[in-house]
This record gives sequence, structure tokens and C-alpha cells, in this order.
Amino acid sequence: MAGFRSLARQVRDPRGDLALRRYSLRKCLERFAPYGHRATWDHLCARHGIDPEDRAPDPVRLMRALDELEEARAVWLAYEAGFAERRRREKHAGLRRPGAFDDWHRRTWGGHGVARCTDPEVHPTEPLAEVLRRLIAALGSSPGSACPVCADTGIEWRQERGEEPWAGPVCTGCGIAVPQPALTDRTLARARLPRHRRPAAAAAA
Ligand SMILES: [Zn+2]
Repeated sequence: MAGFRSLARQVRDPRGDLALRRYSLRKCLERFAPYGHRATWDHLCARHGIDPEDRAPDPVRLMRALDELEEARAVWLAYEAGFAERRRREKHAGLRRPGAFDDWHRRTWGGHGVARCTDPEVHPTEPLAEVLRRLIAALGSSPGSACPVCADTGIEWRQERGEEPWAGPVCTGCGIAVPQPALTDRTLARARLPRHRRPAAAAAA
């Protein structure tokens, strides 16, 4: 199976067939897609003016989309490397992290679905690298009561059935699934309440 970097080379190959170059970009999303495959593709198409169904899009646009994806991947891989190193030191010192923090990292290792968007058409509009920087900053500081990406306080608990059942807090502002370690217990408890029983965000903060 081709890795991200060899797929990226195919996207940039000026002699490559356009449909293949597009296909290679989509394959890159199987290796790294912060919002999940479909939502990340939707995001890149919107930002770089690519028609999602166009089988032979402008190669300049394809390469710009790849640039954005690569920048985000570099941000994430640097974070993971730092995280692994810190965990090694903490284990050595006998420190334990809350289980939710490790669970979240295990699930998102490699950067797939770091900021999963349950609705592929609802995702932040900022560049991917910027969104990841905000998430990383939130994971490195105390838990909060708002979305670390868009600062919206409308956090709702969602459940997905199907092939990969999933449940967790989702930001109703930008659409990302917020990592649970980034939210206070109180915010998580509030998100789990049915809408009509939820106190106003300011009261819960
Ligand atoms: Zn948000």
C-alpha cells in the first residue's frame, strides 16, 4: 500500500493523468484526514475551488489542496512525536494520565479523524493546519467549556450507528467532534442533557 508521501508525489507528477492525480489526492486522505475522509475532501474542494465530482480538475488547484493537507500533516506529526516523547517520560516517572486522554490519542493516532466531522458538509472553514494548532493548544491546556476551534459553546452529544459506531461531544458551531479531554466535566455533562433541560451556556461555564 502506497504511503502518504509517494501518493503526494503522484499528485504533483506533471506527466501524470489528471484523473489519476486526483485519485492520488483522495488516497492521501485515507492516510491523513483530520475531519474524516469525506469531510476533509469536501473542505479541500471548497477552499481550493475544486468541483468534488470533476474527474480532471485543474492541477494547480489539486496541488494547492495537497499543500494545505501536507502542512496540516506536518503540524500533527510533530505533535504526535512530542506527545509520544512526553508519555515515555511520564511513564518513566510513574505519572498516569486520565484514561480519556489516552483513549482519544489511540483512536486518532496518525491523524485520521482528529477533528472528525460527523456531517461531511459541516466543518471549519479555516486552513486545516490552523484548526489543528488550535486543537493542540487546547489539549495542552486546562479543559474548557467552549469549542477549541471556533469558541462556540453549543456542544451537543451525538451518536452514530453504522459500521463505526461512535458517540461524543460535537460542536454545533463548526461541526467537529471535540476531544473529550479538551472539555470540562461540567460541559460534558451539560452536552449529554436533552436540549430543553440544558442550562444556558453562561450558567454552566
Ligand atoms: Zn466549533
